[in-house]
Amino acid sequence: MAELCVHSVLVTGANRGLGLGFVQHFLRMPKPPQWIFATCRDPKGQRAQELQNLAAKHPNLVIIALEVAKPASIKVAAAKVGEHLGDSGLNLLINNAGMVNSKMIDAETFEDMTDTYTTNTTGPLLMGQAFLPLLKKAAHRSPGSGLSCSKAAIVNISSIGGSIASMFGWEMMQVTSYRCSKAALNMLSKCQSLAYKEHGILCVALHPGWVQTDLGGATGHTPPVTVDDSVQGMLKVLSSLSEKETGAFLDWEGQVIPW
Ligand code: NDP
Repeated sequence: MAELCVHSVLVTGANRGLGLGFVQHFLRMPKPPQWIFATCRDPKGQRAQELQNLAAKHPNLVIIALEVAKPASIKVAAAKVGEHLGDSGLNLLINNAGMVNSKMIDAETFEDMTDTYTTNTTGPLLMGQAFLPLLKKAAHRSPGSGLSCSKAAIVNISSIGGSIASMFGWEMMQVTSYRCSKAALNMLSKCQSLAYKEHGILCVALHPGWVQTDLGGATGHTPPVTVDDSVQGMLKVLSSLSEKETGAFLDWEGQVIPW
């Protein structure tokens, strides 16, 4: 299996949970990326303390302010990342930031539906648009006609909760606004895969498992998967992807999830 070998990666929501896990795993790789852009809403705040500690030790880690529900913030972040990268482009965009409202269907509000959709679906769309020039540059510089995550890729961290065929965990958690936003994110991933294939960019929707994070534990149950195991599994899956899998919906162990 080919090794995941990226010159540059950007992770949204990198200050805690799975996002922070991704950053830690990239830093620990035998050949770490030359640039790891860890984005979060408040880089100087208390919630980004762990990232700040890591950045103090690792010069290849750059913390960038990014609120995915604000189009202007996305544009400013893309410009900053572009300044760092120069001509080399961005290999891997991981749209990880996400939110959930743990509510029963009758308690969901207009704001729950719109806020969750904006963060979980519109954010990844706008991220893909804003970072497209940098992803194209990376794809262009990489030899060969195939697709891979080492060349150029958009990875949308989705959820089996968005699978209509599975309806995973409905008895435990209804989270309708979340499920709708992730079902839409799955469609977005497919659309991105079709639109960006000609530019040499692989796109995939990935379910991380039910993981021990704030979001994973939001319903009061303890999730079975650790952040470490989930991220390690997802990175293994990413390293194995080719043009055959672009547009797919996979889990952290590489299994295809039904839409
Ligand atoms: P956490 O709650 O631990 O972390 C969520 C991250 O997203 C935080 O960094 C948070 O930042 C950030 N975030 C939320 N809203 C925004 C926003 N508008 N702009 C920028 N950043 C934002 O969750 P997880 O690590 O568990 O979740 C990561 C991804 O994995 C999500 O997309 C989630 O849906 C998905 N997932 C998780 C599962 C699980 O079991 N944990 C299962 C299936 C999918 P801040 O600290 O500022 O709030």
